[in-house]
Amino acid sequence: MAIERTFSIIKPDAVANNVIGGVTAKLEAAGLRVLASKMVRLTETQAKAFYAVHKERPFYGDLVKFMTEGPVVVQVLEGEGAVAKNRQVMGATNPEKADAGTIRKEFATNIERNAVHGSDAPETAKEEIAFFFSTAELASLARS
Ligand code: ATP
Ligand code: MG
Repeated sequence: MAIERTFSIIKPDAVANNVIGGVTAKLEAAGLRVLASKMVRLTETQAKAFYAVHKERPFYGDLVKFMTEGPVVVQVLEGEGAVAKNRQVMGATNPEKADAGTIRKEFATNIERNAVHGSDAPETAKEEIAFFFSTAELASLARS
């Protein structure tokens, strides 16, 4: 499998619960490398746009409120099959259904307050990375 990039958000619940390190440790232990990382507070406009795919869903309003309630950490991750690997280490959307050892099993509260976001396909990863990081910003973080 090829080296890929994916996009992750450590959501406001996990940041508030002081588990930025705990979440990141699980990502790193799964073989994902943090290429870029920053803490930001999403505006309502940003949260609405980021989750626009869900705008017809009944939980959309609450989701936007949740994602803007406090700071988040946005990250670019890289690794072998990074998109699928990240989804695997995140666990199911509903933590009650998440496998043991996954981020959501360990750190999520419920189906909404579920600790992390991860891109669901390479194409969405590309769009989501570009939503938060400029090409110049990513280039400046390249490692030798
Ligand atoms: P994410 O896109 O955040 O990585 P996901 O791909 O596992 O999560 P989606 O179906 O894309 O799940 O839902 C996006 C987010 O919306 C979920 O992570 C969760 O925070 C919230 N959400 C999803 N389903 C529900 C629901 N039934 N009730 C409340 N919130 C929900
Ligand atoms: Mg999703």
